[in-house]
Amino acid sequence: MALESKAFELLACPCPHHGKLVQTGDGLRSLCCATHFDVIDGIPVLMLPEAKTGETR
Ligand SMILES: [Zn+2]
Repeated sequence: MALESKAFELLACPCPHHGKLVQTGDGLRSLCCATHFDVIDGIPVLMLPEAKTGETR
């Protein structure tokens, strides 16, 4: 599946650094904190790992 690279250029990491995101084989990776983000059905899931587990502690 071809991803719209132009759209991803507008995205920034959700962490306080707001670094650039680069496309990897199976998702996106932030250049600021090296966090991996999944891309599901072409939509990047921009949640920090701590946000994903925030409700369960
Ligand atoms: Zn970051």
